[in-house]
Amino acid sequence: MALSLSFDILDLKTRHPFTIARGSTTAYRVVRVRLRDADGLEGWGEAAPSRYYGETADTVAAALGRLAPALPADPSDLEGADAALLRAAPQDAAARVAVSAALHDLAGKRLGAPLWRLWGLDPARAPLSSFTIGLDTPERMQAKVREAAPYPILKIKVGTPDDAAVLRAVREVTDKPLRVDANAGWTVSEALARLPLLEEMRVELIEQPVAPDDVEGLAAVHRASRIPIVADEACRTAADIPRLAGAVDGINIKLAKCGSLREALRMVESARAHRLSVMVGCMIETSLGITAAAHLTPLLDLADLDGAALLERDPFAGATIDAGRIVLPTGPGLGVTER
Ligand code: MG
Repeated sequence: MALSLSFDILDLKTRHPFTIARGSTTAYRVVRVRLRDADGLEGWGEAAPSRYYGETADTVAAALGRLAPALPADPSDLEGADAALLRAAPQDAAARVAVSAALHDLAGKRLGAPLWRLWGLDPARAPLSSFTIGLDTPERMQAKVREAAPYPILKIKVGTPDDAAVLRAVREVTDKPLRVDANAGWTVSEALARLPLLEEMRVELIEQPVAPDDVEGLAAVHRASRIPIVADEACRTAADIPRLAGAVDGINIKLAKCGSLREALRMVESARAHRLSVMVGCMIETSLGITAAAHLTPLLDLADLDGAALLERDPFAGATIDAGRIVLPTGPGLGVTER
């Protein structure tokens, strides 16, 4: 029962230019993968490539050419598929996870069950999702905070010389829990110098304060900080977790980094074994990619799955965020439909 793979590249625009410590853009390209089985059932998945991790829509398209021949003869052999896909395109995590999600979508559709049910999860256990406020002038960030009224937790992008002005401006207009993400934008001494300000602003979590390969630096910030530290760029796959244990309080899983839904599950298990908290994040992506990640949320402590909410137009409907609450779809597989 051979599977056929096809894909299309989707151009996305965010409502505001999305700016983090590394740069700014409004235009994003993602890739929707379709796997069709002999009965005509289709599984879908999304690749949201990031240049930071060496991928673009074009590298995804090229990688899919190598992944198609590695698809399993039996589409329900999800474990076997995982290893074969990794061998076929080891550097192409976003491309691989699109195929992994499509295989899981198809498996759920063949069995008539949503993915969370196949995994034995209770969707009511999903944590609230935060909503991200990209870097901007303090005034415009205040306006974005007001626009984010339906979201109970805000994640503020930081990592510039204006951090104090930005955080004070945000705190002036909201009492909501605030998390910050420096996207590796601080040196260790800059991160340490900002801790009193972050405490004064009642920040509840700091994501990736310093460079991803600087585990000693992460550990130094972690030792000095009363606020929990979460590794994002420093933690791509489960293999990164043992060296981060003791250096941070938690890890941020993203499908586009880890390359498969099963690797995401391995990351959860490994993080738990190392007594780390677990968050799931996202890239700028549609509800197809977000929903694949959302099926993991009943296993997790923290979620930041606003990628589709930042889009001008979302071509898919799937998991939704209702006043911060992640609502998982009840349809089979990923439960995603075209809008
Ligand atoms: Mg992050």
